[in-house]
Amino acid sequence: LAATRLALDHLSSELVETRQSLHEDSLTGAQNRRGMDTILLREVARAKRNKNRLAVAMLDVDHFKRVNDTYGHDVGDKLLVHLSMIAKSVMRESDALIRYGGEEFLLILSETDQQGASYVMERLRQVIAKTPLVYDNRKIEVTLSVGLAQLGEGENGHSLVLRADHALYEAKRAGRDRVVIAGAAPAAKAT
Ligand code: GH3
Ligand code: MG
Ligand code: MG
Repeated sequence: LAATRLALDHLSSELVETRQSLHEDSLTGAQNRRGMDTILLREVARAKRNKNRLAVAMLDVDHFKRVNDTYGHDVGDKLLVHLSMIAKSVMRESDALIRYGGEEFLLILSETDQQGASYVMERLRQVIAKTPLVYDNRKIEVTLSVGLAQLGEGENGHSLVLRADHALYEAKRAGRDRVVIAGAAPAAKAT
């Protein structure tokens, strides 16, 4: 019986690990898109329940293709890990870092309004710009473009992320290496 119990314990802890890794990006340890869906639903519901602010920021490495082309894909990968570590160091424990796509990350900043988010992201942008990845005695410098948005009344997570993504596009268009705040969410529908 004891042996069975031990085996069961083992299985259930393996299950917990599997469940975690299903939601994790293996390169950076950030959450993946699957994890994002869960966190976004939870944080939007929580913000509405507690009448808290919630902000998200979409971040994209500028001219990342050049890093790969100049130094190779492996160095590009190292840069993504470097970036994730720095991002985590400026975020709160309760915030979430999600690898949204190749060199694109989404930050979910709970109990944060757009001013607070703008402060955090501006800081991250500056820290990244000043902290190159040192590899093989070379310094690999990159800049970030960021779009951020604050959850509107009656807005869902999907719309929030879309607005941040649109602001990111504006940041790129305006010349990169900057943080752009999205326009207000569309007015809540009367119900
Ligand atoms: P922009 O400033 O407009 O964002 O330019 P960019 O070069 O960063 O953008 P683009 O979308 O043209 O290229 C993104 C590059 O990211 C292309 C792709 O090879 C690279 N990439 C995507 N995922 C990974 C990855 O996991 N590892 C590495 N090393 N490169 C990746
Ligand atoms: Mg890019
Ligand atoms: Mg991109």
